Amino acid sequence: MKNPILPATIGGLLELLQTGDGAALESLDAPTASHADLATAAISVAGELRARGVARGDRVAIVSPNSASMVSAFLGAATAATCAPLNPAYGRSEFDFFLGDLKPKLLLVDAALDTPARNAAQARNIAVAEVGRAQNAVSGFVTVDGTVANGTQLPPCSPDDVALVLHTSGTTSRPKIVPLSHRNLMTSAHNIGATLSLSAADRSLTIMPLFHIHGLVAALLAPLAAGGTIIVPPGFLASEFAGWLARFRPTWYSAVPTMHQAIVQRLSTADGRALRAKAPLRFVRSSSAALAPATIRDIEAVVGVPVIEAYGMTEAAHQMTSNPLPPAIRKPGTVGIAAGPEVAIMSSGGAILPIGELGEVVIRGLNVAAGYLDNPEASNAAFTAGWFRTGDQGVLDADRYLTLTGRLKELINRAGEKIAPLEVDGVLADHPAVAQAICFGISHPILGEDVAAAVVLKPGMTVTPRGLREFVAARLAYFKVPRQIRIVDRIPVGATGKLQRRGLAEQLDIQAEVPVISGDTTAPSSPLEEIVSAAWSDLLGRDIPGVHENFFALGGDSMLAARIVSRLRESLRVELPLLAFFDTPTVAGIASELGVLLGAEGEHG
Ligand code: AMP
Repeated sequence: MKNPILPATIGGLLELLQTGDGAALESLDAPTASHADLATAAISVAGELRARGVARGDRVAIVSPNSASMVSAFLGAATAATCAPLNPAYGRSEFDFFLGDLKPKLLLVDAALDTPARNAAQARNIAVAEVGRAQNAVSGFVTVDGTVANGTQLPPCSPDDVALVLHTSGTTSRPKIVPLSHRNLMTSAHNIGATLSLSAADRSLTIMPLFHIHGLVAALLAPLAAGGTIIVPPGFLASEFAGWLARFRPTWYSAVPTMHQAIVQRLSTADGRALRAKAPLRFVRSSSAALAPATIRDIEAVVGVPVIEAYGMTEAAHQMTSNPLPPAIRKPGTVGIAAGPEVAIMSSGGAILPIGELGEVVIRGLNVAAGYLDNPEASNAAFTAGWFRTGDQGVLDADRYLTLTGRLKELINRAGEKIAPLEVDGVLADHPAVAQAICFGISHPILGEDVAAAVVLKPGMTVTPRGLREFVAARLAYFKVPRQIRIVDRIPVGATGKLQRRGLAEQLDIQAEVPVISGDTTAPSSPLEEIVSAAWSDLLGRDIPGVHENFFALGGDSMLAARIVSRLRESLRVELPLLAFFDTPTVAGIASELGVLLGAEGEHG
């Protein structure tokens, strides 16, 4: 790339990329795209959008797994209009909500993806176009509805134009829309590049999903803005990861703590170590959920490079603080020092507190969103004297390293996926047998937090926890479905007489369920358990000793899990989320989740 001047817009970034011939994008099944190739692909998407009547102020929703065409579609849509990537795991009712809220002019869907997003868009008269990678073309070239997009004009965009909108889980039942300008995004990309000393020599393995701010800014914009290369496999697959390290030789990757834990497991074998040795890693980065100091030690011992833990949020276009690279000091258990925006601690009354005092983490800087879209009330509440209130509680030490100590906002952080408990409450309360429902986080040794709920039934009505889980699974994405639901006579209240989510897990004695590792000999006791046990035994090539044995301890991995999912899809016509294998990796657990999903489908019908 020609010029190191930092562009303030994604359009400016594309202009810079146009002059580059280094590798920009590598993926599993396509030739490498140079910086110029990627810019051309993104500009052609922008041109195609213009040709379809999409204007600067319009929104373009994208539903796609990570791929080369997703990268070009994001860059093109953010340049020509406002881009709104959505989680491809959402179900029909969530797409109904998000498309209704966003009112996009056009929905871009990955051509190979079977998703209810298409029907949800059609029901709202939103135009749908299918995007994919052009056959025999370099990685990054995009087809729209089967033909290669061929615009050549880079639409002008200014730093204040909104490039991206993302929903936050919010603390109210209605998720809020965060509008991020080009300036917000590019400032954050440059902040991350500066923290990590990114350069044209860096190769980043993109395993974070590209519908989340962490993936879009840390794993896509920051490396490209530094003139480096991004490697884009179709998402995170633990079983493939070591092979990707050896094949693509990345210098770093950013991930959430659960991914790091899975990677440590894979790289601990002799085979894993040999593949790992082929990648010239400089460091690995963790963000979006708390990383325990013990996990940092494990990662550093197995992966053999420094772990850089950072703290980010959607409203800040991701990064707020980060531990620095060595030789500067990293402090495990802290999220590091201000890494872009100014960071301070504020009292509930709005005063900036001295070092060592506990309060709300507040930030200000060019990366911070101006407010929430069409929501003056929430926007006003989010700012005090120009500082954005994060809703996280923390304390700064004498060296200004930040320790997060809790959350003032009611948010469940399930391995980096944020869940608004009120959204789940609302769905549970819609069940005809439910009088009152309250959802809360429970601590979980692997996920950090998991979702649980307590429910009071209407007099004379009955429903099982399982029936309630089916009801929620029919309406919300799988990761939001409470793993445990307790039916109670009344929900315990706090000292003030108010319902309080905090402390409910202890009061009701609800603990995370962690599966047995070995030694179980329980035989299958239902047709679903028999089907699952037979599928596992076939694909693992061994007998399954008991329905409570852990899939991964039996030699399973995420690739085998994916094959089992596809076999179950064929035989039972149900889409089991791959996540279920990590949540409940036993025959009994998977059979029970299948039962929930089959029941949930009944609700749809
Ligand atoms: P999101 O908007 O999905 O990026 O979520 C932002 C929230 O994730 C923050 O407000 C924190 O509550 C949490 N979070 C982000 N990074 C960390 C971290 N390193 N440690 C603990 N919590 C984090």
